[in-house]
Amino acid sequence: MSKTVGVLALQGAYQKHVESLEKLGVACRLIRKAGELENCAALILPGGESTTISLLLQENGLYQPIKFFAQNHPVMGVCAGMIMMASEVDDKRVTPLALLPFKAQRNFYGRQVHSFTDDIKLTFDSKPFNAPFIRAPGIKNPSAEIKVLATHKEETVMIGCGKHVALSFHPELTDDTRIHEYWLSRSNNF
Ligand code: GLN
Repeated sequence: MSKTVGVLALQGAYQKHVESLEKLGVACRLIRKAGELENCAALILPGGESTTISLLLQENGLYQPIKFFAQNHPVMGVCAGMIMMASEVDDKRVTPLALLPFKAQRNFYGRQVHSFTDDIKLTFDSKPFNAPFIRAPGIKNPSAEIKVLATHKEETVMIGCGKHVALSFHPELTDDTRIHEYWLSRSNNF
């Protein structure tokens, strides 16, 4: 199986994920059409604007192919990408992919001016992670099979289920590659 990671590149903060993967020595490929998912072993849904990404997934015929791909390949959703992974979103303009059973609440932490960086606690590593939150969504009503992977104060900010992970902050904007590494380590393909 190929070890190339696809990075959805319709809109938003995809380029920085390429740099994080390069730092880990992992090959990657920008995804703008369904055919480009072929030979990818995993997929990152980056941050951006979930209403726009939702529209572009439909317009570019990527909605069903990504759902199909996610049945047996790991997906990591970051911020708007996390919103796309939810089974429910508090904004009817977004049609989520329903890859993980939880509800995403858009802009849970407020607007752009309320963006912040703070240490979060990881369940899989004893060292905290300094995480940038940018108009970050909230993770609400996760169902029982979902594991909490990181918390900020009382809030869950990263979850996982099977090979998939979803997080409300932006690890690609830091030099710390532990989140990407952890996600890839959940799959035997890397
Ligand atoms: N607030 C954005 C949304 O709802 C997400 C922000 C981000 O991806 N940094 O889509």
